[in-house]
Amino acid sequence: MATKVPFHTFILKTASRCNLNCTYCFVYNLEDQSWRKQPPLMSAATARKTAERIREHCVSNNKPYATIVFHGGEPLLGGVRHLDVVLGAIKDVFESSGIEIKFGMQSNGLLLTLEIAKYLSENDVSIGISIDGPPEVNDVARVDRRGRPTGKLLEQRLFEILNSPYKSVISGFLSVVNVNCDPIPIIEYLAKFGPPKIDFLLPYDTYDRPPPGKTDSIDSTVYAKWLIRAFDYWFLNMPQLRIREFDSIIRQLFGGSPLVESIGLGVVDLIVVETDGSIEAVDSLKGTYDGAAYLGYDVSRNSFDEVAACLAVRSRQVGAESLCETCKQCSIVNICGAGYLPNRYSKENGFLNPTIYCADMQLLISHVHKSVLNTLDRQLPMYANA
Ligand code: SF4
Repeated sequence: MATKVPFHTFILKTASRCNLNCTYCFVYNLEDQSWRKQPPLMSAATARKTAERIREHCVSNNKPYATIVFHGGEPLLGGVRHLDVVLGAIKDVFESSGIEIKFGMQSNGLLLTLEIAKYLSENDVSIGISIDGPPEVNDVARVDRRGRPTGKLLEQRLFEILNSPYKSVISGFLSVVNVNCDPIPIIEYLAKFGPPKIDFLLPYDTYDRPPPGKTDSIDSTVYAKWLIRAFDYWFLNMPQLRIREFDSIIRQLFGGSPLVESIGLGVVDLIVVETDGSIEAVDSLKGTYDGAAYLGYDVSRNSFDEVAACLAVRSRQVGAESLCETCKQCSIVNICGAGYLPNRYSKENGFLNPTIYCADMQLLISHVHKSVLNTLDRQLPMYANA
């Protein structure tokens, strides 16, 4: 197996509870229930120990920079006070270290007040917002703990921030695809907030729990149809807006690397730390089976160098070598990469399957390829250095 790759992105679960109860949530509403054992908020001591481990890892791997992303649950659940406890402990550890840390956060945005936006702006923490589209689309799955809609309130929060001096804290949107809703009004709605980028996620489902639109047949191409309609609209009308899944496919067609973990054979160099300091694999695995993200490491006992050397982590850094035979033989494996890891899972074969979106990926990649070939006379400067 190839040499171990150091981690670059550290996802810190600073809160293990959430103010929402989204129906598709992989933390609370799918297979894994390990959140029940976690403290609701990360303590200053755990944040400090985690930061010390990250610094140690950067030093031993000669890394001058790393990224820390606050995640949850909902990382704004403890307000500015808790954010300051965690951020203060981390900044303290890196002060005068010569290591540059880029801070980000993924949030549902419902608690994003002007006070918090100001704090994030002053501390150089960018924030990605989870939003599936206009309220009537968002509210299909993104409901609060009493099942009430949240889209209108989120819309108000976003307008408030975007009309303030702190609008640049918003780094982008993350949207789960709903094949029952037309993608064009969704893109138009999201674009009007001027996000630097959008990520479209396919539902984190598996062969044992097929996603909406694939319950009768896994070979249905309903997701390809949705994505192709979205791609065509975006490609012709919104070249200034970054949609990272489409950008990733185009970059890879030009020989570049993907921008997202869910497409391509890029090396996965991120790791998760839970609120109690346990170190876990990518948490979207929690949608596959109970305990799927468990690695058995903890910042109090283990270095990130030890974790980087373990087989479960390294198997995601060796390209096509760790994929099923069907994917290894596939002509587009370098671009598709067997899709996102959770979407390959079945009780029968574990992760040795093509993604449940295999038929969709084949159609989408072929369509993007043809569209790019048909427009090669157009300037695509953003891919020139892919
Ligand atoms: S999931 Fe399907 S399209 Fe993707 S690499 Fe595997 S066989 Fe090819």
